[in-house]
Amino acid sequence: MKAIQSVCVYCGSSNTTKPEYLDLATRVGQAIALRGMRLVYGGGRVGLMGRAAEACHKGGGEVLGVMPKFLARREITYEDVPHRMVDTMHERKLIMFNESDAFIVLPGGIGTLEEAIEMLSWRRLDLHTKPLVFLCEDGFWDPLFHLMQHTIDANLTPPSFNDVLLAANSVEGAFEAIEQRIAA
Ligand code: AMP
Repeated sequence: MKAIQSVCVYCGSSNTTKPEYLDLATRVGQAIALRGMRLVYGGGRVGLMGRAAEACHKGGGEVLGVMPKFLARREITYEDVPHRMVDTMHERKLIMFNESDAFIVLPGGIGTLEEAIEMLSWRRLDLHTKPLVFLCEDGFWDPLFHLMQHTIDANLTPPSFNDVLLAANSVEGAFEAIEQRIAA
């Protein structure tokens, strides 16, 4: 069984979202550090991203940030942790993908959705088998699961793709889902 060494976290960059979401990001960062895993993420200090990275770093965990140069000011590069500066969003996503064994998706906006959906679409094309789990404690991701079921009901996505859509409503549950999938 391959051990998970690096976990990519996709999550929102908003500072003004629900405090519960910011707190969830903090707990995910702490959990990654506690497990001796590395957190790979978008490299900023803003929103859930910043909370997760800071919590992991302060918990003694390893962090890798990947920041497009043009966003460095807007998303405030977290300079205290190792980070790579890149030119494009595509480079950022490819490095985040290559450097990670699994993905956790926390509440987020269009950027988070884009990153998660790209990984799922690559999975659909059999370009990888890395597990991706949507983590929320309040049903935040339910509308996305309804939309996916809608595409299945229309025979646009095979029902078997439901097996790829992992969901967890606790931090512990997210790691369990990933570990079970890796062991399978
Ligand atoms: P959001 O969920 O909209 O707050 O965005 C979360 C993160 O996703 C931010 O760091 C955005 O810069 C990033 N992001 C947005 N669109 C893309 C994209 N096309 N490729 C890579 N990262 C993106």
